[in-house]
Amino acid sequence: MLEKDIEKVLVSEEEIRIRSTELGKVLTEEYKDKDPLVLGILRGSVPFMAELIKHIDAHMEMDFMTVSSYHGGTKSSGEVKLIMDVDTAIRDREILIVEDIIDTGRTLKYLKELLEHRGAHVRIVTLLDKPEGRIVEIEPDWTGFTIPNEFVVGFGLDYENHYRNLPYVGVLKEEIYSN
Ligand code: 5GP
Repeated sequence: MLEKDIEKVLVSEEEIRIRSTELGKVLTEEYKDKDPLVLGILRGSVPFMAELIKHIDAHMEMDFMTVSSYHGGTKSSGEVKLIMDVDTAIRDREILIVEDIIDTGRTLKYLKELLEHRGAHVRIVTLLDKPEGRIVEIEPDWTGFTIPNEFVVGFGLDYENHYRNLPYVGVLKEEIYSN
């Protein structure tokens, strides 16, 4: 049913599974003695977070933060707002931010600076990176897939809060935006 709204699949379910397994191995090595706080950014990171942590074979805690930079549509507002903060003490803590996608970089730059200011050591893993969209300087430490500058949905990513439940990442048909 949802599939009829999709123009093309950019990253398949299987590619995501394989890449998450690879990243999980790397992150296991990286974090095995560090008991990190794995911090998902709501709501888009939930499917990736769930897939990724299955493959991290190390002690870790999990928490979430909500920030907003998009207002519905397909364009960023340019302003990042903190909606829900972490519930865990983070001074001197190893934090691994799990994000769905980096576009302009504003969201992650804001978050990284906020958490570092509170004394945490922060690194970033993102499912997707759109480097052509970058406006502020920030790079993820680990990336699932680098994609072209297109608006994508699925595997956590939404259009007007829908399509997050698609099991792959795809591009919507033009007519969906114009409706
Ligand atoms: P940034 O602050 O880097 O511009 O954007 C980060 C946030 O914007 C992401 O967490 C995501 O919610 C949203 N975003 C950026 N690009 C896309 C996209 O192609 N599709 C969707 N659905 N959201 C995006």
